[in-house]
Amino acid sequence: MRAQPTASHYINGQYRENAEGAVFTSIYPATGETIAELHIASVELIDETMQAASKGQKIWAAMAPVERGRVLQRAAALLRERNRELSELETLDTGKPLQETLIADAASGADCLEYFGGIAASVTGEHIDLGGGTFAYTRREALGVCVGIGAWNYPIQIACWKAAPALACGNAMVFKPSEVTPLSALKLAEIFTEAGLPDGVFDVLQGNGPVGAGLTAHPLTAKVSLTGSVPTGKRVAALAGEHLKKVTLELGGKSPLIIFNDANVENAVSAAINANFYSTGQICSNGTRVFVQKGIKDAFLERLKERTEAGSIIGDPMDESVNVGPLVSEPQLEKVLGYMALGQEEGARLVFGGNPTSVAALPDGYFVEPTVFAEVKDDMRIAREEIFGPVMCVLDFDTEEEVLARANDTDFGLAAGVFTRDLQRGHRVAAGLEAGTCWINTYNLTPIEMPFGGHKSSGIGRENGHAALEHYSQVKSVYVEMGDVEAAF
Ligand code: NAD
Repeated sequence: MRAQPTASHYINGQYRENAEGAVFTSIYPATGETIAELHIASVELIDETMQAASKGQKIWAAMAPVERGRVLQRAAALLRERNRELSELETLDTGKPLQETLIADAASGADCLEYFGGIAASVTGEHIDLGGGTFAYTRREALGVCVGIGAWNYPIQIACWKAAPALACGNAMVFKPSEVTPLSALKLAEIFTEAGLPDGVFDVLQGNGPVGAGLTAHPLTAKVSLTGSVPTGKRVAALAGEHLKKVTLELGGKSPLIIFNDANVENAVSAAINANFYSTGQICSNGTRVFVQKGIKDAFLERLKERTEAGSIIGDPMDESVNVGPLVSEPQLEKVLGYMALGQEEGARLVFGGNPTSVAALPDGYFVEPTVFAEVKDDMRIAREEIFGPVMCVLDFDTEEEVLARANDTDFGLAAGVFTRDLQRGHRVAAGLEAGTCWINTYNLTPIEMPFGGHKSSGIGRENGHAALEHYSQVKSVYVEMGDVEAAF
Protein backbone atom coordinates (compact mmCIF):
# COMPACT_ATOMS: atom_id res chain seq x y z
CA MET A 1 0.00 0.00 0.00
CA ARG A 2 1.42 3.45 -0.94
CA ALA A 3 0.25 6.97 -0.26
CA GLN A 4 3.33 8.79 -1.51
CA PRO A 5 2.59 12.53 -1.85
CA THR A 6 3.67 14.54 -4.91
CA ALA A 7 6.46 16.01 -2.74
CA SER A 8 7.25 16.45 0.95
CA HIS A 9 6.34 20.12 1.36
CA TYR A 10 3.87 22.63 0.00
CA ILE A 11 5.33 26.12 -0.29
CA ASN A 12 4.07 29.26 -2.02
CA GLY A 13 1.18 27.47 -3.73
CA GLN A 14 3.20 24.48 -4.99
CA TYR A 15 4.60 21.13 -3.99
CA ARG A 16 8.28 21.25 -3.19
CA GLU A 17 10.88 18.57 -2.53
CA ASN A 18 14.19 18.89 -0.73
CA ALA A 19 15.90 15.62 -1.51
CA GLU A 20 18.91 16.54 0.64
CA GLY A 21 16.78 16.57 3.82
CA ALA A 22 16.85 13.51 6.12
CA VAL A 23 14.24 10.89 5.18
CA PHE A 24 11.40 9.87 7.47
CA THR A 25 8.50 7.53 6.78
CA SER A 26 4.79 7.33 7.28
CA ILE A 27 3.65 3.90 8.47
CA TYR A 28 0.21 2.31 8.04
CA PRO A 29 -0.44 1.24 11.66
CA ALA A 30 -2.65 -1.71 10.69
CA THR A 31 0.21 -3.44 8.87
CA GLY A 32 3.42 -1.67 9.87
CA GLU A 33 4.09 -1.05 6.15
CA THR A 34 5.80 2.12 4.95
CA ILE A 35 3.27 4.05 2.87
CA ALA A 36 5.31 7.19 2.17
CA GLU A 37 8.83 8.57 2.46
CA LEU A 38 9.36 12.26 3.07
CA HIS A 39 12.20 14.67 3.75
CA ILE A 40 12.71 16.87 6.78
CA ALA A 41 12.80 20.59 5.95
CA SER A 42 16.18 22.30 6.15
CA VAL A 43 16.86 25.60 7.91
CA GLU A 44 17.08 27.27 4.47
CA LEU A 45 13.71 25.89 3.47
CA ILE A 46 12.15 27.14 6.71
CA ASP A 47 13.44 30.60 5.94
CA GLU A 48 12.28 30.52 2.33
CA THR A 49 8.82 29.40 3.46
CA MET A 50 8.54 32.11 6.08
CA GLN A 51 9.48 34.74 3.46
CA ALA A 52 6.82 33.39 1.07
CA ALA A 53 4.24 33.33 3.86
CA SER A 54 5.06 36.90 4.85
CA LYS A 55 4.62 38.08 1.27
CA GLY A 56 1.36 36.15 0.86
CA GLN A 57 0.01 37.43 4.16
CA LYS A 58 0.18 41.06 3.02
CA ILE A 59 -1.87 40.29 -0.09
CA TRP A 60 -4.35 38.23 1.93
CA ALA A 61 -4.78 40.81 4.69
CA ALA A 62 -5.49 43.50 2.09
CA MET A 63 -8.41 41.54 0.65
CA ALA A 64 -11.93 42.34 1.84
CA PRO A 65 -12.78 40.09 4.81
CA VAL A 66 -15.94 38.92 3.05
CA GLU A 67 -13.81 37.70 0.13
CA ARG A 68 -11.45 35.91 2.54
CA GLY A 69 -14.51 34.25 4.03
CA ARG A 70 -15.62 33.06 0.59
CA VAL A 71 -12.25 31.40 0.00
CA LEU A 72 -12.54 29.53 3.31
CA GLN A 73 -16.07 28.45 2.46
CA ARG A 74 -14.99 27.19 -0.98
CA ALA A 75 -12.26 25.19 0.78
CA ALA A 76 -14.90 23.75 3.14
CA ALA A 77 -17.00 22.65 0.15
CA LEU A 78 -13.96 20.98 -1.49
CA LEU A 79 -13.14 19.12 1.73
CA ARG A 80 -16.71 17.81 1.84
CA GLU A 81 -16.63 16.79 -1.83
CA ARG A 82 -13.40 14.85 -1.23
CA ASN A 83 -14.34 13.54 2.20
CA ARG A 84 -13.99 9.87 1.29
CA GLU A 85 -10.59 10.23 -0.37
CA LEU A 86 -9.32 12.37 2.54
CA SER A 87 -10.76 9.96 5.10
CA GLU A 88 -9.04 7.00 3.47
CA LEU A 89 -5.75 8.88 3.52
CA GLU A 90 -6.26 9.79 7.18
CA THR A 91 -7.03 6.16 8.02
CA LEU A 92 -3.83 5.05 6.27
CA ASP A 93 -1.76 7.63 8.13
CA THR A 94 -3.33 7.23 11.60
CA GLY A 95 -4.89 3.74 11.60
CA LYS A 96 -8.17 5.20 12.86
CA PRO A 97 -11.21 3.30 11.56
CA LEU A 98 -12.70 4.64 8.34
CA GLN A 99 -16.03 4.53 10.18
CA GLU A 100 -14.62 7.42 12.28
CA THR A 101 -12.53 9.35 9.79
CA LEU A 102 -15.52 9.60 7.42
CA ILE A 103 -17.37 11.70 10.01
CA ALA A 104 -14.85 13.20 12.42
CA ASP A 105 -11.75 14.41 10.57
CA ALA A 106 -12.03 16.24 7.24
CA ALA A 107 -15.72 16.76 8.09
CA SER A 108 -14.84 18.62 11.28
CA GLY A 109 -12.21 20.56 9.32
CA ALA A 110 -14.89 21.57 6.81
CA ASP A 111 -17.22 22.68 9.62
CA CYS A 112 -14.43 24.83 11.00
CA LEU A 113 -13.60 26.47 7.65
CA GLU A 114 -17.28 27.11 7.04
CA TYR A 115 -17.76 28.63 10.50
CA PHE A 116 -14.77 30.97 10.33
CA GLY A 117 -15.49 31.73 6.66
CA GLY A 118 -18.94 32.85 7.81
CA ILE A 119 -17.67 35.21 10.51
CA ALA A 120 -14.58 36.57 8.71
CA ALA A 121 -16.51 39.70 7.70
CA SER A 122 -17.83 40.22 11.24
CA VAL A 123 -14.44 40.63 12.90
CA THR A 124 -14.86 44.22 14.00
CA GLY A 125 -13.46 46.73 16.44
CA GLU A 126 -15.31 49.12 18.74
CA HIS A 127 -16.15 52.80 18.87
CA ILE A 128 -15.37 54.62 22.12
CA ASP A 129 -16.96 58.00 22.82
CA LEU A 130 -14.46 60.25 24.65
CA GLY A 131 -16.75 63.30 24.98
CA GLY A 132 -16.84 66.60 23.10
CA GLY A 133 -16.98 64.81 19.78
CA THR A 134 -13.59 63.20 20.30
CA PHE A 135 -13.54 59.45 20.05
CA ALA A 136 -11.36 56.41 19.72
CA TYR A 137 -11.91 53.31 17.72
CA THR A 138 -10.20 49.94 17.68
CA ARG A 139 -9.16 47.90 14.71
CA ARG A 140 -8.84 44.15 15.04
CA GLU A 141 -5.79 43.39 12.91
CA ALA A 142 -3.95 40.27 11.80
CA LEU A 143 -0.83 39.17 13.66
CA GLY A 144 1.19 38.28 10.54
CA VAL A 145 2.60 34.80 9.93
CA CYS A 146 1.33 32.20 12.40
CA VAL A 147 2.96 28.82 12.83
CA GLY A 148 0.79 25.76 13.44
CA ILE A 149 2.34 22.59 14.89
CA GLY A 150 0.15 19.48 14.91
CA ALA A 151 -0.22 16.22 16.86
CA TRP A 152 -0.83 12.88 15.14
CA ASN A 153 -4.28 11.93 16.42
CA TYR A 154 -6.48 14.28 14.34
CA PRO A 155 -4.09 15.56 11.64
CA ILE A 156 -6.38 17.33 9.16
CA GLN A 157 -8.79 18.44 11.87
CA ILE A 158 -5.96 20.07 13.83
CA ALA A 159 -4.64 21.76 10.65
CA CYS A 160 -8.11 23.20 9.94
CA TRP A 161 -8.81 24.20 13.55
CA LYS A 162 -5.65 26.30 13.45
CA ALA A 163 -5.74 27.55 9.84
CA ALA A 164 -9.41 28.58 9.70
CA PRO A 165 -9.40 31.23 12.47
CA ALA A 166 -5.87 32.33 11.55
CA LEU A 167 -6.79 32.88 7.90
CA ALA A 168 -10.17 34.43 8.72
CA CYS A 169 -8.31 37.14 10.66
CA GLY A 170 -5.97 37.85 7.71
CA ASN A 171 -2.91 35.90 8.86
CA ALA A 172 -0.83 33.42 6.90
CA MET A 173 -0.11 30.02 8.39
CA VAL A 174 2.92 27.78 8.05
CA PHE A 175 1.80 24.38 9.30
CA LYS A 176 4.07 21.57 10.45
CA PRO A 177 2.16 18.31 10.79
CA SER A 178 3.33 15.65 13.23
CA GLU A 179 6.12 13.62 11.65
CA VAL A 180 3.99 10.55 12.46
CA THR A 181 1.10 11.71 10.23
CA PRO A 182 2.47 14.03 7.54
CA LEU A 183 0.09 13.37 4.65
CA SER A 184 -3.32 15.02 4.92
CA ALA A 185 -2.06 18.58 5.56
CA LEU A 186 -0.58 18.51 2.04
CA LYS A 187 -4.02 17.75 0.62
CA LEU A 188 -5.47 20.61 2.62
CA ALA A 189 -2.85 22.94 1.12
CA GLU A 190 -3.82 21.78 -2.40
CA ILE A 191 -7.46 22.46 -1.59
CA PHE A 192 -6.71 25.96 -0.32
CA THR A 193 -4.92 26.79 -3.57
CA GLU A 194 -7.84 25.44 -5.58
CA ALA A 195 -10.26 27.49 -3.44
CA GLY A 196 -8.40 30.68 -4.42
CA LEU A 197 -6.08 31.27 -1.47
CA PRO A 198 -3.15 33.46 -2.59
CA ASP A 199 0.20 31.67 -2.79
CA GLY A 200 2.18 31.47 0.43
CA VAL A 201 -0.81 32.02 2.74
CA PHE A 202 -0.97 28.36 3.80
CA ASP A 203 2.24 26.37 3.59
CA VAL A 204 3.16 22.91 4.87
CA LEU A 205 6.66 22.05 6.05
CA GLN A 206 7.55 18.56 7.20
CA GLY A 207 9.77 17.58 10.04
CA ASN A 208 10.21 16.75 13.70
CA GLY A 209 10.83 18.80 16.85
CA PRO A 210 13.79 20.81 15.52
CA VAL A 211 11.72 22.00 12.53
CA GLY A 212 8.95 23.05 14.97
CA ALA A 213 11.55 24.85 17.07
CA GLY A 214 13.09 26.50 13.98
CA LEU A 215 9.68 27.81 12.98
CA THR A 216 8.89 28.98 16.53
CA ALA A 217 12.09 31.02 16.78
CA HIS A 218 12.02 32.45 13.24
CA PRO A 219 12.07 36.27 13.18
CA LEU A 220 9.01 36.43 10.88
CA THR A 221 6.87 34.27 13.18
CA ALA A 222 4.24 36.30 15.04
CA LYS A 223 2.54 33.44 16.84
CA VAL A 224 2.78 29.71 17.41
CA SER A 225 -0.16 27.39 17.98
CA LEU A 226 0.82 23.91 19.15
CA THR A 227 -1.27 20.82 19.68
CA GLY A 228 0.80 18.25 21.52
CA SER A 229 1.92 16.92 24.87
CA VAL A 230 2.59 18.97 28.00
CA PRO A 231 6.41 18.50 27.85
CA THR A 232 6.47 19.76 24.25
CA GLY A 233 4.16 22.61 25.25
CA LYS A 234 6.62 23.71 27.92
CA ARG A 235 9.49 23.64 25.43
CA VAL A 236 7.55 25.60 22.81
CA ALA A 237 6.35 28.15 25.40
CA ALA A 238 9.91 28.64 26.68
CA LEU A 239 11.30 29.20 23.19
CA ALA A 240 8.38 31.41 22.22
CA GLY A 241 8.94 33.39 25.42
CA GLU A 242 12.59 33.88 24.63
CA HIS A 243 11.64 35.35 21.24
CA LEU A 244 8.45 37.02 22.53
CA LYS A 245 6.07 35.18 20.21
CA LYS A 246 2.42 34.77 21.08
CA VAL A 247 1.33 31.21 21.84
CA THR A 248 -1.72 29.00 21.90
CA LEU A 249 -1.11 25.58 23.48
CA GLU A 250 -3.55 22.68 23.18
CA LEU A 251 -2.01 20.02 25.37
CA GLY A 252 -2.76 16.76 27.12
CA GLY A 253 -5.19 15.71 29.82
CA LYS A 254 -6.31 13.14 32.35
CA SER A 255 -9.88 14.26 32.47
CA PRO A 256 -12.52 13.17 34.99
CA LEU A 257 -15.92 11.81 34.03
CA ILE A 258 -18.17 11.79 37.11
CA ILE A 259 -21.20 9.52 37.19
CA PHE A 260 -23.69 9.99 40.03
CA ASN A 261 -26.11 7.32 41.30
CA ASP A 262 -29.07 9.06 39.64
CA ALA A 263 -27.49 8.97 36.14
CA ASN A 264 -29.04 7.12 33.22
CA VAL A 265 -26.75 4.06 33.17
CA GLU A 266 -26.97 3.38 29.43
CA ASN A 267 -26.10 6.97 28.56
CA ALA A 268 -23.28 7.00 31.10
CA VAL A 269 -21.86 3.79 29.64
CA SER A 270 -22.12 5.23 26.10
CA ALA A 271 -20.24 8.34 27.22
CA ALA A 272 -17.55 6.31 28.98
CA ILE A 273 -17.07 4.22 25.82
CA ASN A 274 -16.81 7.36 23.67
CA ALA A 275 -14.52 8.96 26.24
CA ASN A 276 -12.06 6.06 26.30
CA PHE A 277 -12.26 3.84 23.23
CA TYR A 278 -13.08 6.17 20.31
CA SER A 279 -9.96 6.63 18.14
CA THR A 280 -8.49 3.75 20.19
CA GLY A 281 -8.33 6.10 23.15
CA GLN A 282 -6.00 8.57 21.42
CA ILE A 283 -7.93 11.75 22.21
CA CYS A 284 -6.60 14.59 24.36
CA SER A 285 -9.92 15.36 26.06
CA ASN A 286 -10.73 11.75 26.95
CA GLY A 287 -12.46 11.13 30.27
CA THR A 288 -10.00 8.51 31.44
CA ARG A 289 -10.68 8.85 35.17
CA VAL A 290 -14.24 7.59 35.44
CA PHE A 291 -15.54 8.34 38.96
CA VAL A 292 -18.62 6.18 39.59
CA GLN A 293 -20.74 6.69 42.72
CA LYS A 294 -20.86 3.47 44.73
CA GLY A 295 -24.61 2.83 44.33
CA ILE A 296 -24.36 2.55 40.54
CA LYS A 297 -20.91 1.02 40.19
CA ASP A 298 -21.86 -2.63 39.71
CA ALA A 299 -24.57 -1.85 37.17
CA PHE A 300 -22.20 0.48 35.31
CA LEU A 301 -19.35 -2.05 35.12
CA GLU A 302 -21.66 -4.87 34.11
CA ARG A 303 -23.18 -2.95 31.19
CA LEU A 304 -19.79 -1.59 30.17
CA LYS A 305 -18.40 -5.11 29.94
CA GLU A 306 -21.44 -6.52 28.14
CA ARG A 307 -21.56 -3.73 25.61
CA THR A 308 -17.80 -3.72 24.93
CA GLU A 309 -17.69 -7.48 24.49
CA ALA A 310 -20.73 -7.50 22.21
CA GLY A 311 -20.06 -4.32 20.28
CA SER A 312 -16.36 -3.65 19.86
CA ILE A 313 -15.03 -4.83 16.51
CA ILE A 314 -11.24 -4.73 16.36
CA GLY A 315 -9.91 -5.11 12.85
CA ASP A 316 -8.96 -3.68 9.48
CA PRO A 317 -9.61 0.04 9.83
CA MET A 318 -10.50 0.26 6.13
CA ASP A 319 -13.49 -2.03 6.80
CA GLU A 320 -16.34 0.32 7.67
CA SER A 321 -17.85 -2.09 10.18
CA VAL A 322 -14.68 -1.98 12.32
CA ASN A 323 -14.87 0.41 15.29
CA VAL A 324 -11.52 -0.19 17.05
CA GLY A 325 -8.38 0.29 14.98
CA PRO A 326 -4.71 -0.09 15.87
CA LEU A 327 -2.69 2.41 17.88
CA VAL A 328 -0.81 4.92 15.75
CA SER A 329 2.72 3.52 16.03
CA GLU A 330 4.96 0.92 17.60
CA PRO A 331 6.26 3.32 20.30
CA GLN A 332 2.66 4.16 21.20
CA LEU A 333 1.84 0.43 21.35
CA GLU A 334 4.74 -0.16 23.73
CA LYS A 335 3.75 2.79 25.89
CA VAL A 336 0.13 1.65 26.20
CA LEU A 337 1.07 -1.99 26.89
CA GLY A 338 3.42 -0.69 29.59
CA TYR A 339 0.54 1.08 31.33
CA MET A 340 -1.69 -2.01 31.00
CA ALA A 341 0.95 -4.02 32.86
CA LEU A 342 1.55 -1.20 35.36
CA GLY A 343 -2.15 -1.08 36.31
CA GLN A 344 -1.98 -4.70 37.41
CA GLU A 345 1.32 -4.16 39.25
CA GLU A 346 -0.19 -1.19 41.07
CA GLY A 347 -3.06 -3.37 42.29
CA ALA A 348 -5.98 -2.14 40.20
CA ARG A 349 -8.56 -4.80 39.28
CA LEU A 350 -8.52 -5.67 35.57
CA VAL A 351 -12.17 -5.87 34.54
CA PHE A 352 -11.44 -6.75 30.92
CA GLY A 353 -8.79 -6.31 28.22
CA GLY A 354 -5.19 -5.62 29.17
CA ASN A 355 -3.49 -7.36 26.25
CA PRO A 356 -2.14 -6.81 22.79
CA THR A 357 -4.32 -8.51 20.22
CA SER A 358 -3.87 -9.61 16.66
CA VAL A 359 -6.16 -9.44 13.71
CA ALA A 360 -6.02 -12.44 11.37
CA ALA A 361 -5.08 -10.72 8.13
CA LEU A 362 -3.03 -8.01 9.87
CA PRO A 363 -0.55 -9.79 12.15
CA ASP A 364 1.84 -6.84 12.32
CA GLY A 365 -0.73 -4.18 13.27
CA TYR A 366 -0.47 -2.28 16.56
CA PHE A 367 -3.70 -3.62 18.05
CA VAL A 368 -4.63 -3.73 21.74
CA GLU A 369 -7.80 -4.70 23.59
CA PRO A 370 -10.05 -1.99 25.03
CA THR A 371 -9.18 -2.17 28.72
CA VAL A 372 -10.92 -1.30 31.97
CA PHE A 373 -9.39 -1.16 35.43
CA ALA A 374 -11.65 -0.86 38.50
CA GLU A 375 -10.88 -0.03 42.13
CA VAL A 376 -8.27 2.39 40.84
CA LYS A 377 -6.77 4.64 43.53
CA ASP A 378 -6.04 8.34 43.01
CA ASP A 379 -2.31 8.01 43.54
CA MET A 380 -1.74 5.18 41.05
CA ARG A 381 0.27 6.25 38.02
CA ILE A 382 -2.44 4.88 35.69
CA ALA A 383 -4.77 7.43 37.32
CA ARG A 384 -2.35 10.34 37.15
CA GLU A 385 -0.49 10.07 33.83
CA GLU A 386 -1.86 10.50 30.33
CA ILE A 387 -1.82 7.06 28.66
CA PHE A 388 -3.30 8.02 25.26
CA GLY A 389 -4.69 4.57 24.56
CA PRO A 390 -7.89 2.62 25.26
CA VAL A 391 -7.35 2.26 29.02
CA MET A 392 -10.20 3.33 31.31
CA CYS A 393 -9.66 3.79 35.05
CA VAL A 394 -12.82 3.42 37.19
CA LEU A 395 -12.66 5.02 40.64
CA ASP A 396 -15.35 4.79 43.37
CA PHE A 397 -16.75 7.76 45.31
CA ASP A 398 -19.35 8.58 47.96
CA THR A 399 -20.12 12.31 47.94
CA GLU A 400 -20.20 15.26 45.57
CA GLU A 401 -17.80 17.29 47.66
CA GLU A 402 -15.31 14.42 47.80
CA VAL A 403 -15.44 13.67 44.08
CA LEU A 404 -15.03 17.28 43.06
CA ALA A 405 -11.87 17.62 45.15
CA ARG A 406 -10.46 14.37 43.78
CA ALA A 407 -11.39 15.19 40.17
CA ASN A 408 -9.54 18.51 40.46
CA ASP A 409 -6.47 17.00 42.11
CA THR A 410 -4.37 16.97 38.92
CA ASP A 411 -2.10 19.36 37.05
CA PHE A 412 -4.17 18.82 33.91
CA GLY A 413 -7.39 20.72 33.22
CA LEU A 414 -8.46 20.02 29.66
CA ALA A 415 -11.97 18.61 30.01
CA ALA A 416 -14.46 17.00 32.38
CA GLY A 417 -17.90 15.42 32.37
CA VAL A 418 -20.75 14.91 34.82
CA PHE A 419 -23.71 12.55 34.58
CA THR A 420 -26.69 13.28 36.81
CA ARG A 421 -30.43 13.87 36.46
CA ASP A 422 -30.25 16.57 39.15
CA LEU A 423 -30.23 19.84 37.21
CA GLN A 424 -28.73 21.95 39.98
CA ARG A 425 -26.01 19.43 40.74
CA GLY A 426 -25.04 19.19 37.07
CA HIS A 427 -24.40 22.93 36.83
CA ARG A 428 -22.87 23.17 40.31
CA VAL A 429 -20.35 20.43 39.53
CA ALA A 430 -19.56 21.90 36.08
CA ALA A 431 -18.86 25.25 37.77
CA GLY A 432 -16.56 23.58 40.30
CA LEU A 433 -14.53 21.52 37.83
CA GLU A 434 -11.13 22.97 36.91
CA ALA A 435 -11.32 22.25 33.19
CA GLY A 436 -11.61 24.20 29.94
CA THR A 437 -14.53 22.19 28.59
CA CYS A 438 -17.23 20.44 30.65
CA TRP A 439 -20.01 18.23 29.39
CA ILE A 440 -23.23 17.54 31.29
CA ASN A 441 -24.85 14.19 30.39
CA THR A 442 -22.65 13.58 27.36
CA TYR A 443 -18.91 13.52 26.55
CA ASN A 444 -16.35 14.58 23.93
CA LEU A 445 -18.62 16.55 21.61
CA THR A 446 -16.68 19.49 20.21
CA PRO A 447 -18.83 21.57 17.86
CA ILE A 448 -16.87 24.38 16.21
CA GLU A 449 -19.18 26.98 17.73
CA MET A 450 -17.94 26.09 21.24
CA PRO A 451 -14.50 27.29 22.45
CA PHE A 452 -12.06 24.46 23.24
CA GLY A 453 -8.88 24.55 25.29
CA GLY A 454 -7.28 23.82 28.62
CA HIS A 455 -7.06 25.15 32.15
CA LYS A 456 -3.91 24.60 34.24
CA SER A 457 -1.17 22.59 32.46
CA SER A 458 -3.51 21.55 29.64
CA GLY A 459 -3.07 24.72 27.71
CA ILE A 460 -3.12 28.41 26.99
CA GLY A 461 -5.64 30.09 24.69
CA ARG A 462 -8.70 28.71 22.93
CA GLU A 463 -9.51 27.16 19.59
CA ASN A 464 -12.94 27.37 17.96
CA GLY A 465 -15.85 29.69 18.65
CA HIS A 466 -15.54 33.47 18.72
CA ALA A 467 -12.87 33.00 21.41
CA ALA A 468 -10.36 31.78 18.78
CA LEU A 469 -10.47 35.14 16.99
CA GLU A 470 -8.92 36.82 20.04
CA HIS A 471 -5.94 34.54 19.72
CA TYR A 472 -5.30 35.21 16.02
CA SER A 473 -5.72 38.98 15.99
CA GLN A 474 -4.51 42.03 17.85
CA VAL A 475 -6.19 45.28 18.78
CA LYS A 476 -5.01 48.64 17.56
CA SER A 477 -6.48 51.73 19.27
CA VAL A 478 -6.87 54.91 17.25
CA TYR A 479 -7.56 58.16 19.15
CA VAL A 480 -9.30 60.79 17.00
CA GLU A 481 -9.10 64.38 18.27
CA MET A 482 -11.97 66.57 17.10
CA GLY A 483 -10.96 69.70 19.04
CA ASP A 484 -7.80 71.74 19.49
CA VAL A 485 -4.59 70.38 20.98
CA GLU A 486 -3.69 71.88 24.38
CA ALA A 487 -0.06 72.26 25.48
CA ALA A 488 1.69 73.73 28.55
CA PHE A 489 3.39 76.36 26.44
P1 NAD B 1 4.15 15.69 20.83
O1 NAD B 1 4.19 16.70 21.91
O2 NAD B 1 5.13 14.60 20.84
O3 NAD B 1 4.32 16.41 19.40
C1 NAD B 1 3.45 17.41 18.97
C2 NAD B 1 4.09 18.20 17.86
O4 NAD B 1 5.14 18.99 18.39
C3 NAD B 1 4.71 17.36 16.74
O5 NAD B 1 4.43 17.96 15.51
C4 NAD B 1 6.20 17.45 17.05
O6 NAD B 1 7.03 17.29 15.92
C5 NAD B 1 6.31 18.85 17.60
N1 NAD B 1 7.47 19.10 18.45
C6 NAD B 1 8.14 18.22 19.24
N2 NAD B 1 9.12 18.86 19.90
C7 NAD B 1 9.07 20.16 19.54
C8 NAD B 1 9.81 21.33 19.88
N3 NAD B 1 10.82 21.28 20.76
N4 NAD B 1 9.49 22.51 19.32
C9 NAD B 1 8.44 22.59 18.46
N5 NAD B 1 7.71 21.52 18.07
C10 NAD B 1 8.00 20.32 18.62
O7 NAD B 1 2.65 15.15 20.83
P2 NAD B 1 2.04 13.93 19.99
O8 NAD B 1 2.59 12.66 20.55
O9 NAD B 1 2.17 14.23 18.54
O10 NAD B 1 0.49 14.04 20.33
C11 NAD B 1 -0.08 13.51 21.49
C12 NAD B 1 -0.25 14.61 22.53
O11 NAD B 1 -1.01 15.68 21.99
C13 NAD B 1 -1.03 14.13 23.73
O12 NAD B 1 -0.44 14.62 24.91
C14 NAD B 1 -2.39 14.75 23.54
O13 NAD B 1 -3.13 14.93 24.72
C15 NAD B 1 -2.06 16.04 22.87
N6 NAD B 1 -3.21 16.55 22.12
C16 NAD B 1 -3.86 17.67 22.57
C17 NAD B 1 -4.96 18.15 21.89
C18 NAD B 1 -5.71 19.38 22.37
O14 NAD B 1 -6.42 19.96 21.59
N7 NAD B 1 -5.56 19.80 23.61
C19 NAD B 1 -5.42 17.50 20.74
C20 NAD B 1 -4.73 16.36 20.30
C21 NAD B 1 -3.62 15.89 21.00
